[in-house]
Amino acid sequence: MCRDMYILFGPPGSGKTVQARFLSQRLKLDGISWGDIYWGTKFNKKYKGQIAVIKKEAISDRTRSKEIAKIIDKEIGSLTLRNKGGKRGLVLDGFPRRLGEARLLLKICKKRGYRIKSLIRINPSLDFSANRFKKRLFCEKCRAYYDELNLPKKKGRCDLDGGRLSHMDISKESVAKEFNTYLDECLETFEYLKDYADIFFDVTGDDEDMVISSNILIKIKNRIRENYSLFSRKPSTSIMTKYGSFKLVPYQSRLDYSYHLALVKGNVRDGKRVLVRVHSSCITGDIFGSYMCDCGEQLEESMKRIEHEKRGVLIYLFQEGRGINMINKIQAYRLQRNGYDTVDANEAIGFPAEMRDYRLVKEVLEDLGVKTIRLLSNSPEKINKLTDQGVIIEEMVGVEVEPRKWNRGYLLTKKEKMGHKLDVS
Ligand SMILES: [Zn+2]
Ligand SMILES: [Zn+2]
Repeated sequence: MCRDMYILFGPPGSGKTVQARFLSQRLKLDGISWGDIYWGTKFNKKYKGQIAVIKKEAISDRTRSKEIAKIIDKEIGSLTLRNKGGKRGLVLDGFPRRLGEARLLLKICKKRGYRIKSLIRINPSLDFSANRFKKRLFCEKCRAYYDELNLPKKKGRCDLDGGRLSHMDISKESVAKEFNTYLDECLETFEYLKDYADIFFDVTGDDEDMVISSNILIKIKNRIRENYSLFSRKPSTSIMTKYGSFKLVPYQSRLDYSYHLALVKGNVRDGKRVLVRVHSSCITGDIFGSYMCDCGEQLEESMKRIEHEKRGVLIYLFQEGRGINMINKIQAYRLQRNGYDTVDANEAIGFPAEMRDYRLVKEVLEDLGVKTIRLLSNSPEKINKLTDQGVIIEEMVGVEVEPRKWNRGYLLTKKEKMGHKLDVS
């Protein structure tokens, strides 16, 4: 019999262990968490010698990976013994991290009768990850952690060993360091395992745990395999603009021949922390300079900033009026004149407030060699949607523009109803 293996990836602070637990409960599967083995008291006794070796800084990554894989293999072995004819599969988290570990895992799968059913990558933005980390309580003895969904039985004390719980004093810089180590190790590993997995996908980590877990289940049910490319790159050129020179790269959809544009500044092929603006077209704002919204000014500001850094990408998506078309947008404006706000107006004419599609973004960034970004945006919703597509966001860079008397109401709605980070009142 061949059992299914689900593997969860995610940086520290992504909540992957919590998600692994949810998933194994929902699908009635076994669960093995490398974090639990590494930090937990129970396993620390069982694998005392080996874990002491793994914790040594002096050993090579290769040796460390081998030792970790041995423990994982043993744990999986004991599961298959315990569950003869029992559970159909296993949820694994925290392993494999390095590429060598992925190779070892394939051997373990073969030996123990598993196939890789699903690779799930939880993808929070760095800011969100850091916040989640700060909220956690850590046991001073065993480093086990607790949060809102996993409260200790006795307040302030660890369930495992009664150790004192405290907030870890951790700076954003050290979370960033952990985040980057994770990226260095896991990006490659995830890509490598894709060839062996039945399905693989990203989910945003910028959300409540319960939302993330239902998102994971939905994507598993829909059997998402996110390696198809929907857009193809067409020949590019350079243009000089009033902000500076940019390379203009068009991308065309293979489905409906619609197209979108990327304006590229400088060398982005090295790939990390690239300043990126994802801008949805707004004819009234971008072309006519309308003050009914702030799109035109945001576009201008973004191009200025990218030019200033001499490096960055502006992705211009042709999707008018947050994904509703121009005629509907004008109708929505008419309603706004009668006292509706931008969210209510869209809903009144039968559209959700936000129906933009960001699938192209990941493809464009991958095509350009960009691995992680600093996103020029005020919208947490946009971050959520992009991370859900697998875009890795290290920072949110605000693009605030001066409110005008014609768009103050519009900006206020964005702030209050759509959670935008704006300084308007
Ligand atoms: Zn403890
Ligand atoms: Zn606009």
